[in-house]
Amino acid sequence: ATTPTRSYSITLLPGDGIGPEVISVAKGVLSLAGSLEGIEFGFQEMPMGGAALDLTGVPLPDETLSAARQSDAVLLGAIGGYKWDNNEKHLKPETGLLQLREGLKVFANLRPATVLPQLVDASTLKKEVAEGVDLMVVRELTGGIYFGKPRGFSSNQNGEEIGFNTEIYATSEIDRIARVAFETARKRHRKLCSVDKANVLEASMLWRRRVTAIALEYPDVELTHMYVDNAAMQLVRNPKQFDTIVTNNIFGDILSDEASMITGSIGMLPSASLGEKGPGLFEPIHGSAPDIAGQDKANPLATVLSAAMLLKYGLGEKNAAERIEAAVLDTLNRGFRTGDIYSDGNTLVGCKQMGEEVLKSVESEV
Ligand code: ATP
Ligand code: MG
Repeated sequence: ATTPTRSYSITLLPGDGIGPEVISVAKGVLSLAGSLEGIEFGFQEMPMGGAALDLTGVPLPDETLSAARQSDAVLLGAIGGYKWDNNEKHLKPETGLLQLREGLKVFANLRPATVLPQLVDASTLKKEVAEGVDLMVVRELTGGIYFGKPRGFSSNQNGEEIGFNTEIYATSEIDRIARVAFETARKRHRKLCSVDKANVLEASMLWRRRVTAIALEYPDVELTHMYVDNAAMQLVRNPKQFDTIVTNNIFGDILSDEASMITGSIGMLPSASLGEKGPGLFEPIHGSAPDIAGQDKANPLATVLSAAMLLKYGLGEKNAAERIEAAVLDTLNRGFRTGDIYSDGNTLVGCKQMGEEVLKSVESEV
């Protein structure tokens, strides 16, 4: 065994529903893959979401946020559930997630959509189109039309009611998301496609100008531009053409959901949210799945792959990340499947056993 040379503190936020089940698996996988690369983790588990509401009366206790802020990375399970669905708006588990993102100042949301060869049949697209898809959507998360002011309801000259919103991007906001996107592309296949609506929207015109300017800092990454309507079409027509996509908040919201459907397996998809400095937030894209919670049926792989993103994009530990990615592929190759990705001829396992199989795969790669 290697002597630990690097150590990191990780805040674990298991949350609600299947959250604790999948976090427990991911924690074990992180520990093992880390130890094989000379990495030591200090884990701190904190309450968040509905679990925190029951315990403390708020979905994101101050202690949880400050622990998260002081750590090197945050791994979140999932939050929410029927139990809290009728709560007042500001006491919902989901509010805690918004507060956490705000508190960590994470403005870049990374969502990969990878069609694994073992799961190509789960794709909503034809096999020829889906095979080999491996793309990443980098979405701006804290600006644009979802936050722009003025916004609201009013009336027009005819006395008719109107609703209005404002798409605003400042140079600094575009520059920082562009840099995250170029850095991300660098860790992948060095191709970046910037998606906008620069033929119609001024905010997009500035977006395109700034991304083009920032590209000068990254001569090794190939930059292209695409209008969002075309990008939406190309994603289902020929998704293989994309490596890394960078886009604004609203376009990214839509395109990342579209991209996730290409893979067809919600239980497999991780995500990362990154800020300028400070810890990143890593979580599966699925929710708390209350329908299967506590039954050992959850697919832990989305969270395990989120842990791999934590290593790669949060800590710069690419080798340990790749150990985990390879172990997930190996586990699937050995035929193990949770219910959500099960098909004939494979071995149906629960959350815990899936975790144990991934650990075996990590071990066997050495
Ligand atoms: P959100 O909480 O993000 O609004 P949601 O409540 O609409 O999302 P999920 O909680 O993600 O949705 O669940 C949607 C469906 O997918 C459910 O039937 C759930 O059981 C299933 N599902 C979600 N995640 C997983 C997983 N990791 N493994 C197996 N099935 C899952
Ligand atoms: Mg849910």
